[in-house]
Amino acid sequence: MKICIGQKRKGETVSFDLLLWLLPVSLLLLKKIKTRHIISVLLLGIIGLLLSSNRPYIYLISGFLFLLFLCDLRYIYERNFLHILKNHSAIKTGLTTEIEELKKDNTSLKTKIILLSEKISTYEMLYSISRILVKQIELDKLIKEIKVAVALLRPTIKSFEIYPIGVKTKEREANDENFQKFEIPIILKKEVLGIIEYGFARKDDSARFTDECKIIATQTAIALKRSNLYNLVLERSRLDGLTGLYLRRYFLQRVNENFLLSKRYNTFFSLLMIDIDHFKKINDTYGHPVGDEILKDVSQLIRSAVHPDVILCRYGGEEFAAFIGLAPVSEVQMLAENLRKTVEEHTFFRNLKITISLGIAYKHQAENTVGELIRKADESLYKAKRSGRNKVIEWR
Ligand code: GH3
Ligand code: MG
Ligand code: MG
Repeated sequence: MKICIGQKRKGETVSFDLLLWLLPVSLLLLKKIKTRHIISVLLLGIIGLLLSSNRPYIYLISGFLFLLFLCDLRYIYERNFLHILKNHSAIKTGLTTEIEELKKDNTSLKTKIILLSEKISTYEMLYSISRILVKQIELDKLIKEIKVAVALLRPTIKSFEIYPIGVKTKEREANDENFQKFEIPIILKKEVLGIIEYGFARKDDSARFTDECKIIATQTAIALKRSNLYNLVLERSRLDGLTGLYLRRYFLQRVNENFLLSKRYNTFFSLLMIDIDHFKKINDTYGHPVGDEILKDVSQLIRSAVHPDVILCRYGGEEFAAFIGLAPVSEVQMLAENLRKTVEEHTFFRNLKITISLGIAYKHQAENTVGELIRKADESLYKAKRSGRNKVIEWR
């Protein structure tokens, strides 16, 4: 079969062969191959083959199919590539979103970690302070230990003081613009027991410590109350109920401590023993209650005549002892003589008049023990008694 189109002259025909080859080539040149392109080229190719009968079919078919095969390969490659591209961008978008979420999580995690570590450090500080509060009952040590703990755990705090009620606060830093001070009261059941005073450099964050300090104040309130009660009980257990002077046991303990200190630092000390003369007579004549009143008055006279640092005690029934530190011999002699005179001149309960005898011993007379010192002062006292009473006698 031979079809002739576009016949220019007789016998000349335009073959479809060229068209047959051009179809897949143009297909290959297309930017993007689609399935419909291949199908239409295939159809056109078949039509072309049927129409061009002047060429060997095998050659034409194989060439045409090879080109089509190439086109198909390109098509498949393109399709896969587009698919991968699509997947890739989807994966990329997914990953970017995930990364953003992770970043967000990370910042919130960081904030959480910071908050948690702040909480841990607060807990650690309060724990170490509550350990001190539970363990330590002596007021001075209690305050000192809390101050050390705060200084260690919160180094940004420039000053931290606990003032129990009645203790004078230190002078504030004058006009320091870089410094700010805060006060928190220590209150227990509406009773103000003291204040906590602390200071920061202005740049530091004080809010957190203020919160912590409020907790410390609450805990300290209980510890202060307990410590106050303890001191009260302790002091009472040391004092004689009638005269308010120290009892002999505590007196000896204090004298022993001072004796050792004075020896170590080579400071001077003296011991005075005081006894009321003929006290039995007062009891026998006026009764014990009157005797008690006189004992109280004598104690008051001695207390007000000596320096507050002098350690005083009711040594026995109507006998008193005084440990005097640092004062030289002349001052002690004068003190003893004044005391004797004061009692002699004083008018006691029910207009009674009494006298006292005094014995003195000095540091250099008792090199080794407090017992030696007391014995010598006592011996001097008995010498005063034997020599007529209402006298001061030093041990010689
Ligand atoms: P001297 O001048 O030798 O010291 O004679 P004195 O009578 O003071 O001494 P003595 O030791 O003979 O008697 C002390 C008396 O003190 C005996 C006791 O009844 C009395 N006394 C001791 N303690 C108390 C007390 O707490 N209250 C009263 N009212 N009397 C007391
Ligand atoms: Mg007496
Ligand atoms: Mg006596």
